[in-house]
Amino acid sequence: MTRRVHSGVVEEHPGSAALPASAQVVVIGGGAVGLATADELARSGADVVVLERDLLGSGSSAKPFGGVRATFSDPGNIALGLRGLEKYAQLHERTPGGIGLQRVGYLFCARTEGEALALEVSTGLQRSMGAVADVVSPARAAELNPLLDPSVLVSASFSPQDGYAQPARAVAAWAASARAHGARVLEGVEVLDVVTAPLDDPHVTGVVTSAGTVRCEHVVVAAGAWSASVGRMAGADLPVEPVRRQIAFAAAPAGLRPATGQLPFTLDLSTTFYVHGSPDGLLLGISDPAQVPGFRRDYDDSWVPAFEAAAAVVAPSLVGLPLHGGWAGLYENTPDHNALIGRSREVGGLVVATGFSGHGFLQAPAVGEVVRDLVLGREPELDVSGFPPERFAPTSAAPLLREVHII
Ligand SMILES: Cc1cc2nc3c(=O)[nH]c(=O)nc-3n(C[C@H](O)[C@H](O)[C@H](O)COP(=O)(O)OP(=O)(O)OC[C@H]3O[C@@H](n4cnc5c(N)ncnc54)[C@H](O)[C@@H]3O)c2cc1C
Repeated sequence: MTRRVHSGVVEEHPGSAALPASAQVVVIGGGAVGLATADELARSGADVVVLERDLLGSGSSAKPFGGVRATFSDPGNIALGLRGLEKYAQLHERTPGGIGLQRVGYLFCARTEGEALALEVSTGLQRSMGAVADVVSPARAAELNPLLDPSVLVSASFSPQDGYAQPARAVAAWAASARAHGARVLEGVEVLDVVTAPLDDPHVTGVVTSAGTVRCEHVVVAAGAWSASVGRMAGADLPVEPVRRQIAFAAAPAGLRPATGQLPFTLDLSTTFYVHGSPDGLLLGISDPAQVPGFRRDYDDSWVPAFEAAAAVVAPSLVGLPLHGGWAGLYENTPDHNALIGRSREVGGLVVATGFSGHGFLQAPAVGEVVRDLVLGREPELDVSGFPPERFAPTSAAPLLREVHII
């Protein structure tokens, strides 16, 4: 048994099991998606091995807080979000000490008539699918989050069922549950190649790793921002591009009510500036338009000018707050900023669950169920036909997704 502190959470890890010679399913990647999938597969009785080259959660899933929501504009994303919320509530209940789930709501702010109309349409669709969400006035938005300047808003949407959880706790919970149901979850094992045969109709037959070879019938690509290279190993084109995203904490301005842990996750649709309440203070971030794609994950303050320019308009009291606990991770972007989920048409036995473009934590629990069914040859309950991995191929007739609520 080893003890580690991960994003402030102390975790007990059983030592890694030995690499087996064969398994029914190999999951590549020990992040939220790979572990949620392994848990579902193991609970269904499948013989599953997770291979993580570093530590569990050390990819993008290790961030301090993860927003969970069903506030999307695409029905496929709404359905994954709703099921994710349900599954996170269950995981919180069944995990000793919970996963830090707090339903503080998401507050999306519109500053133009166009954004307000988009919010009205997507909120209506969310409600028709069973979500709890409403369009609210600028004054109500400022009551929910007093950091906002209501005079610059046209409207907002508020979805009280949404919130946040602690990814490190969720990752540890799935790993423990998967292991308890017989999965072998290995750290420090890198997949170097995916073996397929025969040449004219390839099907996965195994993986070559830094610790030896594993024969298998199915491979799940859950390698986050590194999925393009894993796809190439198998002969599948997975257009996933890494882009650094940075966040940091700040102490709330004096006298702020509600308490920071209860503030809704607040986003300015015009700039993607966001402020997120958490028990550790305000969590601040923005999609920095100057950030170039690449694998760098060092934290610096290059994002702060873009954040402060947006904050000066929407929430002026946030300008100049001292930042602490800064963290950089990778978004795993696809060309339309939506996930790649499905069986590969190019390679038999290869199932893809990647490219979540910044919403993989909230989608992981639902995607775990879907991938379980795809691997086991069942029809998934949720319709993921809008996310085919091959949709960007020049020969593909599948439409690209148009999602308005990308953060
Ligand atoms: C700053 C920031 C904030 C975010 N906020 C949110 C949020 O609020 N809500 C939300 O839903 N999402 C959020 N995201 C996105 C979310 O973190 C990711 O979408 C999610 O963690 C992806 O999970 P994953 O399991 O697919 O990938 P990862 O967690 O990256 O896991 C992939 C794993 O694969 C391993 N791997 C790669 N190649 C190999 C190999 N060859 N062999 C073995 N292992 C390999 C890696 O080491 C890694 O651990 C945020 C991301 C960032 C960076």
